[in-house]
Amino acid sequence: MFEDLRDLYQEVIFDHNRNPRNFRVMDNADRKVEGFNPLCGDRLTLFLKLQNNVIEDASFQGSGCAISTASVSLMTDIIKGKTEREAEDLFEIFHKMTTGKEEEIQLEAVGKLAVLAGVRDYPARVKCATLAWHTLDAALKNKNNSISTE
Ligand code: ZN
Repeated sequence: MFEDLRDLYQEVIFDHNRNPRNFRVMDNADRKVEGFNPLCGDRLTLFLKLQNNVIEDASFQGSGCAISTASVSLMTDIIKGKTEREAEDLFEIFHKMTTGKEEEIQLEAVGKLAVLAGVRDYPARVKCATLAWHTLDAALKNKNNSISTE
């Protein structure tokens, strides 16, 4: 299913890993949550600025493998301007894309995030791709200031 797009996917992941978007500390963040994937050693801190349930700004710091860095870079780009509800919906769709049944995948609904659909073929890398989203989920629910995928 993803064979034709594999080269494009790798190109986008490579680009976001080399030049991560929104890679900065946010001084006036409303939410700051740390995420850790012990399986791979990926660590990130996610910063959010929220106003009237809208994500006005998102940024991150940290270090991890190419997949985790590309995933959080793409995520911070795509959630900016979205409502908290829309971001939670995207998390659901993204989660299904990386772990769910193939017929449930809605590639058109995730836009650029589709480049990460390939990780579903590599179970060990799924947590690298979803770390950013689990961290976002915790940040939106404001329940913890650090999460681990284990
Ligand atoms: Zn990783």
